[in-house]
Amino acid sequence: MLAATVVAQPLFESSPWRPFACRRQPNGRFFWLVAVSALCLAFSLSTTSSAVADEASVTKVEGQCFGPIRFQVTVGKSLSDTDRQTLLLEVQQRLDDINRKMSTYTNDSDITRFNRDLSTDWIAVDLETAQVVDLALRISEQSEGAFDITVGPLVAAWKFGAANPEGEDDAKIPNAAEIQELLTRVGHTKLQVRLEPPALRKQVPNLELDLSAIAKGYAVDEVARVAERLGYESYFVEVGEEVRAAGQHPAGRKWLCGVEKPLELERAIDLKVPLENMSIATSGDYRQFRIVNDRRYSHTIDPRSGYPTDGHVALASIATADCSVADAWATAAMVLGPEKMQQLANEHRLGLHIVTRNESGEFHSVRNDRYPTPVVENRTAGPNWIVMVGATVLAFGLALAGMSVGVMFKRKPIAGSCGGLANMPNSGSRSPCELCANPSQECRELGRGAKAAREAREASEHKH
Ligand code: ADP
Ligand code: MG
Repeated sequence: MLAATVVAQPLFESSPWRPFACRRQPNGRFFWLVAVSALCLAFSLSTTSSAVADEASVTKVEGQCFGPIRFQVTVGKSLSDTDRQTLLLEVQQRLDDINRKMSTYTNDSDITRFNRDLSTDWIAVDLETAQVVDLALRISEQSEGAFDITVGPLVAAWKFGAANPEGEDDAKIPNAAEIQELLTRVGHTKLQVRLEPPALRKQVPNLELDLSAIAKGYAVDEVARVAERLGYESYFVEVGEEVRAAGQHPAGRKWLCGVEKPLELERAIDLKVPLENMSIATSGDYRQFRIVNDRRYSHTIDPRSGYPTDGHVALASIATADCSVADAWATAAMVLGPEKMQQLANEHRLGLHIVTRNESGEFHSVRNDRYPTPVVENRTAGPNWIVMVGATVLAFGLALAGMSVGVMFKRKPIAGSCGGLANMPNSGSRSPCELCANPSQECRELGRGAKAAREAREASEHKH
């Protein structure tokens, strides 16, 4: 707007001013070029500054939880330092609390105690731990055993998770007999849960629990609850790669969640998914895997066979209300593959985006209708500059092409090309066509008409 006003002012005050129809006067063309380009620039700059304003109207707190996992909470408000500190503190406390109860990396969590205990009696745990185990068992049943929190001994045998916290590569992989032996102590049907009083029970003494594939999602849901308790209705929560968003971004759009391309050596966003009162959790085999004898072993294990997933599914992303549910199903989808998972996603009303790779390493993706439709728009500062420069170059190109057409038609004026400008008076209420010092035949006629209209108007004003 500002740039348009600045350019428009000299158009009416300076004489001689030539509309585009007056082809012999180069100033007119020049002004059009400047005007169009300035408008493009103004538009692009206003988009850039609105993106900056977008960021200014939100507040983000971030930190670390469950060891190396990053978390971020963004609320759709500008917060005071005190409110910001309170938000960060409460979120961190909630996450540390979950870690104390559910981690397999700490010595005294409910889960570590349960794993060490060889008793087949009920073992008391915190209500929250029992609730998460209850949900996990429900998803185990629904996923026909593809999601299973008793998978721990297999994860350890394949040298993932707490058994290999540094991710060291060890060429030894378990043999078929070892896997069969381990399968005797794996299986969700060998685990029971009760909520009153909260307790867990194992049917085989060396059964172990591993909540890694549901805990991050659960943590996201709990952080969202903290944000709501503190009175925030618009927020975006992220723990690891699992997210949940509520309300709208203050810029009047949905929050956007980036879903990666399943690439091992680089991070690249594949989809930007708009979220409102919804969660997205994504699993993949492209970050945590080992290559032994040219074979890829992913950290997701099929609990029914005892072997890691075979590399067919590279990424699975689930969209649904609760992030704990999305997280567990994303792991299940890695095991189940696209066909079975599409069927179960429809049955359990889950949004599904699944990427498979073929033998040549090419990706193919499938998305169902419940998965939010990704947006194409990119609101980061970099691409905005590209748009801005592109729009300006395009505007110059169009203006030059227009002028070339004029030259090709032997400088003949194009009738009416000054459009409504003849009717736009300057401060002395004269039209641009009257002000022109060297008018074409067409402009002369327009000028005469404008002059007659002005004189009639002035005469009538005089009467009143
Ligand atoms: P991803 O981002 O791939 O979902 P997660 O850390 O959320 O990764 O989950 C992977 C972890 O879950 C593994 O390291 C292992 O501890 C555990 N896990 C592996 N396979 C299964 C399975 N089939 N069901 C439940 N948990 C699993
Ligand atoms: Mg996960």
